[in-house]
This record gives sequence, C-alpha cells and structure tokens, in this order.
Amino acid sequence: MEPQFQVDFLRKLQRLLAEGGFVATYKFALLHSIADLCIEKDTEPDGRLTLTVDQLAAKFIDLYWRQVQNFPLKGAGRDLVLKQNTGKQAAVINTLRDIQPHYRHRLPLLKSDPVAWKSALSTVRRTIKVMPLWKLQTIGEKPIEFMYRNNPGTNEITLLPGVATCFRTFHGLIIELVRSAWIRYIRRHNDGIRQSLELHGFLFGSERANLDGYRQVLLQSDGTRCFYCEKRIAKEPHVDHFIPWARYPNDLGHNFVLAHSRCNSRKSDFLAAEEHLSHWAERNRDHGEDLSSAFAQQGLAHDRPASIRIVQWAYGELQQVGGDVWVAGKEMRELSSRWAASLGMHGTAG
Ligand SMILES: [Zn+2]
Repeated sequence: MEPQFQVDFLRKLQRLLAEGGFVATYKFALLHSIADLCIEKDTEPDGRLTLTVDQLAAKFIDLYWRQVQNFPLKGAGRDLVLKQNTGKQAAVINTLRDIQPHYRHRLPLLKSDPVAWKSALSTVRRTIKVMPLWKLQTIGEKPIEFMYRNNPGTNEITLLPGVATCFRTFHGLIIELVRSAWIRYIRRHNDGIRQSLELHGFLFGSERANLDGYRQVLLQSDGTRCFYCEKRIAKEPHVDHFIPWARYPNDLGHNFVLAHSRCNSRKSDFLAAEEHLSHWAERNRDHGEDLSSAFAQQGLAHDRPASIRIVQWAYGELQQVGGDVWVAGKEMRELSSRWAASLGMHGTAG
C-alpha cells in the first residue's frame, strides 16, 4: 500500500479525535469497534470490508459492559456510574445497566440467552444508527468520508479499499489514541475522578483479571503440563495469553494456555515461536469444540474463529517488521515465514 495513503489516513484519524465534536463517548466506541473488527473479520480480496451494524453493536456491548458498573471512588464514600454523555446519561449505558443484574454481570451469560441478546443488540443498533455511525466522519460541519461512505438507512458500512489494512497495521497505535481521548472525555465530564489512576483499568480491563474459570476448563482439557516446555507444573498453573494482552487485549478462551509462572514471565509480551504456534493450532483443532462447549457451560467468553484471526494478524504483522519470537528461557529467534504453515493456513484464512 502507498505510504502516502497510510499517512493521510492517520492524519485524518488524528484530526477526527482532536477536532470532531464528541457529545458522547460513542464515537470512541465506534472507532474502537471498527479497529477490532478489522482484525477479527476477513477482508474482501479487493481490500474492502463490510461490517454490519449488528457486528458493531456486539462490539459496543463488549466495550461498554464493564464500564456501566460502579466506578469505585476512593474517599468519597460512594460509587458512581461514569457519565458518558454531555447531557443525560448515554442510552447504551442505561440499557446495559438494566440488563446486567439479570445475568450476574456476566456478558457471556447474556450472549447465551438468544432472545435477550437479540433484544440488547437491536437497542444498541438503533443508537448506533441515530448517533455516531453517520456523524463520526464530520469535522465542524464538513464530512470527510475517508473510512466509509455515509449511507443512512442501511444496516452496514463498507470500509473503503486500504482502510481495513490501515486499521490492522496501526491497530496498537490507533487503540491507544482512541483510549486516551476516551479517558480525557471521562475525566472532563466526571468530577472527582481527575486524579484516579485506576481509570484505564476500569474502562478497558487489565491483564490481571481473574482468570480462574479459564484455568479450571484448561486443566480439564490440557492437564497440568506447561504448554511451552511441556514439563509438569507442580504449583498452580499460570493462565497465559497466547497472543499477549499487550498486543491485543482480549480474554477469549481459545487464546489461553497453561504455563509455569517462569515460562509465562520469560515469554512476556513476545509472540511464541513457530513450534508453539503449531502446538496452539493443533490444540484448538483437536479440542477446540470441546473447549467451546466447556467455556460456554461456565459462562466464559470465547470465539474460536476470532481467536484464529487475531493470531493470523499478530504473526502477519510481526513478519512484516522482521520481529523476533520467543523460543524458551532467554532464547529468541527471528520469525520465519513458516509460521503460516504451522497454523495450517494454505492460502486461505479461517
Ligand atoms: Zn514451562
């Protein structure tokens, strides 16, 4: 892709965040959702990517789900729901807040209730269509349709050729920009939390979330051997993000493996070498479906196709920059092009 195209894309995105009008945090959520879906969905051969408003709505719910809980405000003796709108509270927040208690605040439980899930999606879908979708690409009064053509009335957007690739290439950078702008918005519109350091973790989750449920499922399926060195784990196994949280922050079941705490911390934020990748692919090929049902039974988030695409994206991007992968202990080596074969990719994605 033309470097000039990428520079223009980033420049426009930066303008949007700096100058676009943001009455609610929806535009941040929309950009975040589009960026994530570019990784989790397959692009057309001509570089376009069509996203339905329902796919965006599902991502919105993923993002806002944790944010509608009470923010623990130190010293104030009360909890509060963060304001995400300049006027009355954002409608998505109210909707999710009403639903949550019925599902013990666990999103996978809502998703496993088809009727309730459909109804939540349709509420959020309406908001997305009225609020941010056709207004996102406007600065002042001026539309700049550089991501997709505004087409009110339809239930989808089609990202223009090259746009999905930009989102994939600069995913980390874009997410940081969007999240910082989102955090600034929250600070500006919520008195008393200006000093809070916990805000980032509260809004976007943290690597050290409680992963005990995943540990139990993986112990059943993979046993007590370390995924990386294959030796027995005597103490409590660590739940490792195979694609590190730092590269793509998500807690989807198939991305987890059990490891020694030492192996886990040696691997750190690196991608694992090709042999580990092929082990991961094999585990999810042979036991993926059983894992899916076990995760579902425990009400744990999982999405095998998305996990596979995230892996393809992460290794593809690393290969582009000639990066190193972690082998064992302190051993690293350059990622070879063999990785795609170890993932069982034969020119097709999925
Ligand atoms: Zn180990």
